[in-house]
Amino acid sequence: MNEYDSEIMAGLLNNSGYHLTDNLEEAKIIILNTCYVREKVKHKIYSKLGELRKLKEEKPDLILGLSGCLVQREPEEALQRAPYLDFILGTSNFYQLPEVLKEISGNDNQENQVGKRYTGIVRVEENGIIPENLPKLRKRRFTAYVPVIRGCNNFCSYCNVPYVRGRERSRLPDDILKEVEELSRQGYKEVTLLGQNVNSYGKDLSDDQDFADLLIQVNRVKSIRRIRFITSHPKDLSDKLIDQMARLDKVCEHLHLPVQSGSNKILSRMKRGYTREHYQNLVDKLRQAIPETTLTTDIIVGFPGEEEEDFRDTLELVETVGFDGAFTFCYSPLRGTEAARLEERIPAEISGERLRRLIELQQAILLKKNKSLVGRKFEVMVEGISKKNPDEVEGRTRGNKIIIFPGGKNLIGRFIWVEIVKAGCWALKGKVISC
Ligand code: SAM
Ligand code: SF4
Repeated sequence: MNEYDSEIMAGLLNNSGYHLTDNLEEAKIIILNTCYVREKVKHKIYSKLGELRKLKEEKPDLILGLSGCLVQREPEEALQRAPYLDFILGTSNFYQLPEVLKEISGNDNQENQVGKRYTGIVRVEENGIIPENLPKLRKRRFTAYVPVIRGCNNFCSYCNVPYVRGRERSRLPDDILKEVEELSRQGYKEVTLLGQNVNSYGKDLSDDQDFADLLIQVNRVKSIRRIRFITSHPKDLSDKLIDQMARLDKVCEHLHLPVQSGSNKILSRMKRGYTREHYQNLVDKLRQAIPETTLTTDIIVGFPGEEEEDFRDTLELVETVGFDGAFTFCYSPLRGTEAARLEERIPAEISGERLRRLIELQQAILLKKNKSLVGRKFEVMVEGISKKNPDEVEGRTRGNKIIIFPGGKNLIGRFIWVEIVKAGCWALKGKVISC
């Protein structure tokens, strides 16, 4: 979601005559669009700001801003720790960037230099609606993010999202379709529909459109060949959605379904609203409906009260399900969340050791799964030149597996059939069988 919001800020700046640069020294405006899912992020952001302060001291005209989740939660702390900031824009205010820049330039005749005066504009509103039709400078050329719902009502006990992104606000289906149609006209081939919990889509709208209904409509947009979506919540994933995933030809055979833990005791403490049995049952239904589907997940280890036995339940679930990928995290207590008040904290060494064991198991499972794909043929949408070898390109299968194969720039944006010749954990190697 932050990446999409950054694309809007870049689009707004582009419309105001600015252009993007990778060179910090050259920049007239620097904005850190922050994430705040784990406490560690905070240290990173403030240390980056410390570096940028030096740049601002050398170039007092440099405009420095913070946006995103961290500042939504803690704008005062941000201003206290970085009093040289020119502006702070919350998760519902980032689109006000042009107005804020005008305000700052209106202050030009005042001394807005480090140590003397800084602009320090703060706009942090809760549950704001982001206007439609904002300009975007998209990072990618053929695949694009399209938010369908912002915020979350779930309040999982460890999570910051409902506090930093507010309550659920669905976009109107017509607005979403307009955006996807526009992307199709611009030559985009793939869209990823975004939401903290896409399964909640439509609950706050007046007609009873749900996410499955939205998928049916997006599936009709001409020239879009692939539809993906993240994230689904196991407590809300409906049979209707699984059914439509199986029916709709453009919806890719991949589901990201965060399980977080394999222990019912921990799931209940996390306030996830499902049991391990429910999760396993969903996986069975999904695989029955779409045998080819890949499945990825998120897992937290070291949640307060997680005993070795609970952790083993997680390992066992990981083994039984056989995920095609897992984002794995050590639990990070976040101020203001319910879990941060729980006792029975797990020492960092134990969490770290559990994380290592989990990653080891997941990698072994993944390697075995990927090896079983050698010799099979997949349609790959080429996304770009491989980062490691300029004579190779990389792209994804419908199941979201990364495939690298010999080729050049001319293949970017094209759909190529490839045979898998070698398997790794992170990516597979292929050879072209038809263009
Ligand atoms: N909405 C998604 C869901 O319900 O699964 C997840 C969104 S969250 C931004 C992404 C992932 O970060 C979560 O699935 C969780 O695994 C991880 N996460 C969130 N809060 C965390 C915390 N306090 N400590 C460690 N990991 C956390
Ligand atoms: Fe956070 Fe996801 Fe739970 Fe919402 S559903 S509170 S975003 S983990």
